[in-house]
Amino acid sequence: MTGHVLVAGAGIAGTAVALALRRAGIGVTVAESRAADHAGGAGVRLNPNAMDALRAIGADGAVIAASASLVRTEVFSPTGERLSYRLAADPASPRGLPRSMLWNRLSTALRDEAARAGAEFRHDTRVTGVTRTADGIVALLDDGGEIVADALVGADGVRSAVRTWIDPDAPAPQGGRTRTIYGFTPDPPCEPPPPEVLRIHLGARAFFASRRDAHSGGCSWFTNVPVTGARAGDGDDLRERDLRERLDELFGDDDSPAASTVRHADRVLGFDDLALPHVPRWHTDRMIVIGDALHVAPPASEQGAAMAIEDGVVLAQCLRDRPRPADAFAAFEALRRERVEAVVALGLGNAPGPPRRGAARLLHRARDRFAALGRLATLSDWQRRPPTGGPAWAYDHHIDWTEKMR
Ligand SMILES: Cc1cc2nc3c(=O)[nH]c(=O)nc-3n(C[C@H](O)[C@H](O)[C@H](O)COP(=O)(O)OP(=O)(O)OC[C@H]3O[C@@H](n4cnc5c(N)ncnc54)[C@H](O)[C@@H]3O)c2cc1C
Repeated sequence: MTGHVLVAGAGIAGTAVALALRRAGIGVTVAESRAADHAGGAGVRLNPNAMDALRAIGADGAVIAASASLVRTEVFSPTGERLSYRLAADPASPRGLPRSMLWNRLSTALRDEAARAGAEFRHDTRVTGVTRTADGIVALLDDGGEIVADALVGADGVRSAVRTWIDPDAPAPQGGRTRTIYGFTPDPPCEPPPPEVLRIHLGARAFFASRRDAHSGGCSWFTNVPVTGARAGDGDDLRERDLRERLDELFGDDDSPAASTVRHADRVLGFDDLALPHVPRWHTDRMIVIGDALHVAPPASEQGAAMAIEDGVVLAQCLRDRPRPADAFAAFEALRRERVEAVVALGLGNAPGPPRRGAARLLHRARDRFAALGRLATLSDWQRRPPTGGPAWAYDHHIDWTEKMR
């Protein structure tokens, strides 16, 4: 069995795989280039499949404590009329409601659980290279140090270096025609919507989505705009002053809380929306990539963090049950490729599965209407809107931690 794994990156995938590896009885060191108290990050929604994966490794309680459930989305017109409210998930579903929280609160909750379970974390430490040895790897660090391990897991995000060490011809994420700008306002000038509500104000030029952070009382918000001028793949490349000026132009004439909330923000960040739908080579015999290093869905898919967590749990199962890392990696790819590529396709608007035609489509519609009628019987008036949970194949995914990976 694999004895010790080095993970590059302590984001969502890195912390999740570290905890899962410890639950599998495998030693793990995580090297993270950022400081331990890094405060960046957008609001993240975790759909029921992410909560299922966390339950498999006993981390659901810690994440529930760090988050709030998301019950509904409300949309307001530019003149302040409420246009719609949609449930975030079917309240009758046993899968539970999605959870929402700040990115850094999620990664910190997972990191703390993993550290309690015995994972070692080294912050301010970038992995800069790797050498294959007779029975494992030696990773080179930017402080001149080295870490010896049986295998390297690259959980190093969209701009993954490990992906290119596995395959120098690996594709890079593409896109960047739209940009998500988000921020956090600790003392909002207007009362934000409660944590269980995502409120969207449609403005003259852009929408403004916001909700109150359950823990700090601050307002977490975002918008999505076409990219004008220089492109960037990384929020750190976008100057905060430029983003603030752009938001001021976009929201200045709107009769909504957008402009004043943005002006009081203590941080504004922007990411060009990228996609990485297919990576031909996922691993060598001692190295593999997971999370955004392996597949990137646009933020609107709200599944990137969920896929990163699922990857981490399934990879730890494979390393637990297959004696050689190479076999574990092959088993992981066989289990995961179809699903992660289908989720990215869904995020890009290319829903997988054959389109229904003719009689099949009519039958499907009738079944949906019947199911909706059943739900209506249990809902109050304001809730009489279709639930907005994603397709069952994406949301109902289940991981059985006791299952043996053969
Ligand atoms: C604006 C926005 C909104 C989003 N909203 C949602 C949402 O609602 N729901 C959802 O499920 N997903 C959402 N996502 C996607 C989600 O945030 C990502 O899919 C998820 O964070 C991927 O996790 P990761 O660990 O693979 O990568 P990351 O979270 O990017 O973590 C990678 C880590 O690796 C570190 N690192 C990089 N290189 C090295 C190195 N060489 N050595 C050591 N450390 C290194 C980085 O510092 C970083 O901490 C959103 C994304 C964005 C941009």
